[in-house]
Amino acid sequence: MCNKILPYFVSGTVIRGFGRGSKALGIPTANLPEPVVNALSKDLDNGIYYGWASLRGEVHKMVASIGWNPYYKNEKKSMEVHILHKFQNDFYGEELKVIIAGYIRPERDFSSLEELIKEIKNDIAITEQQLEEPVANKLKNDDFLTTKINN
Ligand code: ADP
Ligand code: MG
Repeated sequence: MCNKILPYFVSGTVIRGFGRGSKALGIPTANLPEPVVNALSKDLDNGIYYGWASLRGEVHKMVASIGWNPYYKNEKKSMEVHILHKFQNDFYGEELKVIIAGYIRPERDFSSLEELIKEIKNDIAITEQQLEEPVANKLKNDDFLTTKINN
């Protein structure tokens, strides 16, 4: 199980995804660049994770999905981060830092949009809850997220 390599630290510039309409569903996902995704540990299983995201000097809760990208006939991996914060504008091209704190569930196929949205809402509820647990909560203060200079 992938939990043994958590917490896991990732950073990259937010790129454009493929307009799968996640924003229209109210759950925009910030996509990370291909080299960053390709460099992810093979021990990080595909699926849905919770953790912390740092953007524009602020730290927020996030839920992330790691999986195969249907746009590329599932030959390319993608990592997408939904930040649990309302932003006034997009942040393409900006630096996003993420700490993956815990695993929620494997990826799944959904028979309906309602089912998918219900599951995502549940993922968000789990994220809110799990990040209040002391071990996961204190990661929000990690230097990795809070320092401006990032190499
Ligand atoms: P794309 O297919 O380009 O990834 P999305 O519909 O998934 O498009 O929207 C993602 C974009 O929305 C992000 O790259 C970011 O610029 C913007 N965005 C605004 N609010 C959020 C948020 N709370 N979480 C993630 N991305 C957000
Ligand atoms: Mg996206």
